[in-house]
Amino acid sequence: AAEEGFDLEDVEGAIGEAGHGPLPVLAVVGRPNVGKSTLVNRMIGRREAVVEDRPGVTRDRVTYEAEWAGRRFKLVDTGGWEQDVLGIDASVAAQAEFAIDAADAVVFVVDATVGATDTDEAVVKLLRRAGKPVVLAANKVDGPSGEADAAMLWSLGLGEPFPVSALHGRGTGDLLDEVLGALPEAPAGTFAGAVGGPRRIALIGRPNVGKSSLLNKVAGEERVVVDEMAGTTRDPVDELIELGGTTWKFVDTAGIRKRVHLQEGADYYASLRTAAAVEKAEVAVVLIDTSESISVQDQRIITMAVEAGRALVIAYNKWDTLDEERRYYLEREIETEMQQVSWAPRVNVSARTGRHMEKLVPAIETALAGWETRVPTGRLNAFLGELVSAHPHPIRGGKQPRILFGTQAGTKPPRFVLFASGFLEHGYRRFVERRLREEFGFEGTPIHISVRVRE
Ligand code: GDP
Ligand code: GDP
Repeated sequence: AAEEGFDLEDVEGAIGEAGHGPLPVLAVVGRPNVGKSTLVNRMIGRREAVVEDRPGVTRDRVTYEAEWAGRRFKLVDTGGWEQDVLGIDASVAAQAEFAIDAADAVVFVVDATVGATDTDEAVVKLLRRAGKPVVLAANKVDGPSGEADAAMLWSLGLGEPFPVSALHGRGTGDLLDEVLGALPEAPAGTFAGAVGGPRRIALIGRPNVGKSSLLNKVAGEERVVVDEMAGTTRDPVDELIELGGTTWKFVDTAGIRKRVHLQEGADYYASLRTAAAVEKAEVAVVLIDTSESISVQDQRIITMAVEAGRALVIAYNKWDTLDEERRYYLEREIETEMQQVSWAPRVNVSARTGRHMEKLVPAIETALAGWETRVPTGRLNAFLGELVSAHPHPIRGGKQPRILFGTQAGTKPPRFVLFASGFLEHGYRRFVERRLREEFGFEGTPIHISVRVRE
């Protein structure tokens, strides 16, 4: 490597960075308006406008990647919850429960200028029960005069309150130091912490695509699905189901089995639940309702799974409803709308009739195999060498950037680092990804490619 202009330290550093496993998850919880979203914004260090001025604006995005002192972690933002959907206490509790369940550690935000309210006390009970590490943020301490307000929050019994101003950044560095201390190196409850246990599947999709029906079908028995208000949810339930001679864990099935009837806020609620399930799973099975057009919401759910780096299977459900005409248009829709995940195994199923249920497990196994694929460095570089000589990067400004060598830095999903002599254009990177897939498969898995340019 050294003769190519990269020293060993560069290479090792790049591999270490690109090869990180699953990230630990931090949830930010608290009452509405205490400043959760403002704090999350500050933690992700971008002005990605998480804060909305209009109250009750629903957001799809609930997890963000953040980095502090060289450590990366995921943030679950619960600030998008609509307080008037269920009544304040129930909604804050439900929101916190989901977030806490998905998280490895929690930042509990209290408005120090208001002090501890009954709702705050209710959340404290949940936090105690969950037994996860908690850091207490006493927010809106914009100046030294607010420090006394913060000290009052010792009364919550959660240890030292950290006075911060999410708005101005005051104290947030100390808070983040504390948070990092509370976060485990690798997330518990995800695949990193559960090697050798049953493989974990998240069955996800828009409301009414047939998740509950499919789960009942594969579980081999009809179960009663009760209508229940979301505010009464208990802990998410993982179910062990034997399929094709293997035991699989379907995560967060309580949310699937329960029919949630909420008008406002339902989208946000569903997103949070989906994100939590995806975090815990190794493979996501996304259901699409073929009796309707593929929607933006379907695509968002797929994006969520891909961005989380999970293996992916797409199940086109309600196949029994298709007539010839609808089927024709469906195939056109799949071609155009699902192009970016054309690598995902596809099964055409009917949860009602049981059609092609037996194809689900092989598809999941294929996706997991792709997700775990490791390409030996020698083979990768033989391939890259051929690719570069057959299809060199276009010349730009008299220069021709070249891929010098590459390595796979990690799996689950596969992550590659390419070392290059100059900036590689987006189109060329896409081309390399396509060729990598053609060569090595990677069916059912996103792949990450990062490029290091020699200085
Ligand atoms: P969330 O509902 O908990 O996500 O709260 P937001 O982040 O949306 O904040 C609610 C309101 O409190 C907004 O008007 C923020 O500008 C304000 N706010 C948030 N953090 C601070 C702070 O540290 N100091 C002050 N003075 N206001 C804040
Ligand atoms: P969920 O909200 O995603 O859990 O969806 P459900 O399983 O509750 O299904 C929503 C509706 O679609 C119900 O009326 C189901 O009977 C119906 N459904 C589910 N799967 C199929 C299918 O394969 N074919 C047909 N025709 N209907 C289905």
